Amino acid sequence: MYIVPESAIAGLLTREACFSAVEAVFVSMAEGRARNFPVIREQLGHADAIYGFKSGFDRQSGALGLKSGGFWPGNAARGLTNHQSTIVLFEADTGQVKAVVGANLITALRTAAASAVSIRHLAREDAQVLGILGAGHQATFQLRAALEQRPFRKVIGWNRDASKLTRLAAVAEEFGLPFEPVSPERLAAEADVIVTILSATAPILPRAGVRPGTHIACMGTDTRGKQEVSTELVAAGKLFTDEIAQSESIGEFQHAVGAGLIVPADITPLGCVISGAHPGRDNAEDITIYDGTGVALQDLAVADAVLSAAVASGQALSV
Ligand code: NAD
Repeated sequence: MYIVPESAIAGLLTREACFSAVEAVFVSMAEGRARNFPVIREQLGHADAIYGFKSGFDRQSGALGLKSGGFWPGNAARGLTNHQSTIVLFEADTGQVKAVVGANLITALRTAAASAVSIRHLAREDAQVLGILGAGHQATFQLRAALEQRPFRKVIGWNRDASKLTRLAAVAEEFGLPFEPVSPERLAAEADVIVTILSATAPILPRAGVRPGTHIACMGTDTRGKQEVSTELVAAGKLFTDEIAQSESIGEFQHAVGAGLIVPADITPLGCVISGAHPGRDNAEDITIYDGTGVALQDLAVADAVLSAAVASGQALSV
């Protein structure tokens, strides 16, 4: 078996390779060739940690495995990342362990790739202003991947702790773009594409002000009880997700479903748009909303790509 440590991932995974792996897996899922298994997520009762497993199998690519890890809130004080993840890949024919792959950076890059795929396939071509809610660990990854999808002219952002917005301003500057801190209300009214990447438990992005034609990628809500966007806004949108079962239970759309404003049949897997089975945005005035709940198959597809690159370049440790 191989080991690809966390420290090797940055040198092995480009944003382009990550985007392609995630885009392909959306289609495998939508066409029924790949399946995510039920998620396990538990309070550990130790170190205040949440711990769990996400697993799945892609019959087309042969990717079989799991991502294990969670959230240890005390890690930052120790100089460690609070979110910790590791992927284990198995041989689909025998069940033998194929590889253990560090998954902290993979998680950030595959989550950013998922919202970028939604922007590529659903945002208007003439989008000019990118708005981002959140300036935590994931936000800079989200911003870089989103900025590659359209010729944006400006970035606007909001964060509860405004001092963290300098991180977003620095990424905008890398792309030669101006950055302006704004309120959620201004962001709703001025952005053509909006990425939400918060750990909020009440809506921050309002319905009021959001213009026809806007695309929104909701990326922060991955647990029951979290929420970033008003249910009225969700009810006004054309809705897409990675996995409907997760979207209605732990994703952003759980609240609109729970309030009876939408039903799961209103939500389309993004893979159907990529494959051409669903038109996606077929009207310039649509408000398109993507609920990125985060699925194991995205992790496994990217880990497989990393493993191939690591083996090819002699950087995978064979044990
Ligand atoms: P982080 O802790 O580094 O940042 C959290 C962000 O949320 C910050 O911007 C913070 O200011 C904001 N925030 C926290 N509580 C808030 C509140 N009550 N109201 C408004 N803003 C609040 O976390 P991160 O690693 O950047 O992750 C952000 C979110 O994305 C988390 O909820 C995480 O679970 C989720 N996530 C989702 C996926 C996915 O696949 N969808 C993958 C990874 C992380």
